[in-house]
Amino acid sequence: MLEEARERLVQSLVRWGYLRSPRIIEAFRRVPRHEFVPKKLVDEAYADHPLPIGHGQTISAPSMIAIMMETLELREGLRVLEIGAGSGYNAALVAEVVGKRGEVVTIERIPELASFARENLKRTGYSWVKVVVGDGTLGYPDGAPWDRILVTACAPQIPQPLIEQLAVEGVLGAPVGPEHMYQTWTVVKKRADGKLEKREHGGCAFVPLIGAHGWKEKAY
Ligand code: SAM
Repeated sequence: MLEEARERLVQSLVRWGYLRSPRIIEAFRRVPRHEFVPKKLVDEAYADHPLPIGHGQTISAPSMIAIMMETLELREGLRVLEIGAGSGYNAALVAEVVGKRGEVVTIERIPELASFARENLKRTGYSWVKVVVGDGTLGYPDGAPWDRILVTACAPQIPQPLIEQLAVEGVLGAPVGPEHMYQTWTVVKKRADGKLEKREHGGCAFVPLIGAHGWKEKAY
């Protein structure tokens, strides 16, 4: 039943044009999204909308995740840094695409969500994905340079440490724009001369990236 719902979602995302690359389509087929949402929301796991995962955070809508993954030009063997582990679902999809010849590290600022992501990844067979607690706006210099950097929370601008930790020919995607409003899904590629080629891919709505190079924490 859940498997059928997953297949229907994948077919819709292909038909609507969000999913295009065979390896990314296969990743959406393989990763069980229902294992990454709170138990009471399992029935909604294959609907195309974001879902709450606690601590005021969300797992993004599948169509938004498809846009992020397609525009990052993910492929096997790449080393990927994700900022904002949340449920771990997006990291699992990335892990499916890059495979064990690649590497996936995901950073989460809320320790309880990092544990949630780690447990979900372990249960579904992606324990080789490394989940780190910390401020992702500082990047993860230990593993730099990164072939791909995926930011899954909205930033006022692309954090400078992430640009510095991006490999030449590397691609970074981030929602850039105002907090609690619509942002723009922004993709930059680092050229050999260090300059960035920027492309904007339309509107999106993400929770804020909170940290030294992001938004300041507020008492909401
Ligand atoms: N990728 C996640 C998934 O697949 O479930 C969803 C990410 S959710 C939209 C954004 C996440 O970014 C939240 O879990 C939030 O706590 C986290 N976050 C916000 N600021 C952060 C920061 N500076 N470093 C690391 N994580 C951060």
